[in-house]
Amino acid sequence: MKIECLGASQEVGRSAFLMHLDKKIMLDYGVKIFDKEGKPKYPENFTQAPDIVLLSHAHLDHSGAIPALYKEQDLRWVATPPTRDFCEVLWTDSMKIMGEELPYGKREFKKALRKWRPITYNEGFRVGEAQVEYLDAGHIAGSAMIRIKSEGKEVLYTGDFKCEETKLHKGAKYVEDVDVLIIESTYSDREHPPRQELEETLMEHIYETLENGGNALLPSFALGRTQELIAVIRSYDIDIPVYVDGMGREITSLYLKHKQYIKNPKEFWKAVKRVKFVEGIPDKKEAVAEPSVIISSAGMMNGGPILNYLFHVNARSRIIFTGYCVEETNGWYLQNKGFIIKEGVELHVDLPWEYLDFSAHAGRSDLLNFIKHANPQKIVLVHGDKTEEFAQELREDFGYEVVAPKPGEVIEV
Ligand SMILES: [Zn+2]
Ligand SMILES: [Zn+2]
Repeated sequence: MKIECLGASQEVGRSAFLMHLDKKIMLDYGVKIFDKEGKPKYPENFTQAPDIVLLSHAHLDHSGAIPALYKEQDLRWVATPPTRDFCEVLWTDSMKIMGEELPYGKREFKKALRKWRPITYNEGFRVGEAQVEYLDAGHIAGSAMIRIKSEGKEVLYTGDFKCEETKLHKGAKYVEDVDVLIIESTYSDREHPPRQELEETLMEHIYETLENGGNALLPSFALGRTQELIAVIRSYDIDIPVYVDGMGREITSLYLKHKQYIKNPKEFWKAVKRVKFVEGIPDKKEAVAEPSVIISSAGMMNGGPILNYLFHVNARSRIIFTGYCVEETNGWYLQNKGFIIKEGVELHVDLPWEYLDFSAHAGRSDLLNFIKHANPQKIVLVHGDKTEEFAQELREDFGYEVVAPKPGEVIEV
């Protein structure tokens, strides 16, 4: 069995893996949003056109290039219903931000949406000779691991996953005994602090800031993190004012629409009801006029309404990052150099900041435990900056057969 590794190979971003079975199956087809030159990067060219795309989840590093396939092709793509709806929002936003620079336009976007085929967890379907199944990945609503049985072999592609339970998801279950494991390894060298501890620290920072008369600014990814933060904050406190600005508003209403994909829909609905969605300038003014929590995109501060809040809150306010900021994004500049860049100008930010690791990915011991249970004959390490190092460790210390493919590499499994 051959797999073409077209992205997320020795890197994070542009996940795309083409499996050569009797049908050609593309696992994810994403973009790398921030490469070193600050330009988006798309998957490497494939040698044979895919017959179908199986999408693990909606984050753009997995889904962002799918519409580009519809320039010349007419294939189906498979995803859970929330994933489809999130894609529509994220792809629309990409068109708005990038316009002509994108490798697709409105026509391909519309065609792609028409070619979606729904799937739910634990429901099998066939692609040619292969039997395919989606399993809950515990990463964001609708996220899935993809299990493919073909030619007497079982292949598991994890996509992005998290084992630990969070406020909105139960966490991915271990999958026992697979032949080939294609696994993300974003945090192969780090553990995440325990959730409960993190949540309590977050609340302490928020209370301290509000009691001082400031705003707690939470730059946040619109999809996944925004909703988790709403759920966390409201599970501790139903009264403090919480404002949500940016694309997170729309995504949050989609979380409510697809409530069977979150753990505690009733509780989440109650939490959301007590949040104020920022619709216009008067709401923005209101948000900064009182001590409050403001959750706003973008998570790495590269655009989005969060940038304006930075310069409209009082000096008693503070920034709380809950996600990792990639090098040379505004969030990274702020943490490392004390400024952000807006329209080419360096703007100093004096507000204090903290970073709390609310990652939606498996940490190091989760990865090791997951691998132990899967007990694979072969591991393909992807979606990580340190795949070569981790591969060597897995080979030498644990005796696994491991490959950390390079972009464009074709591997035999
Ligand atoms: Zn993801
Ligand atoms: Zn990812």
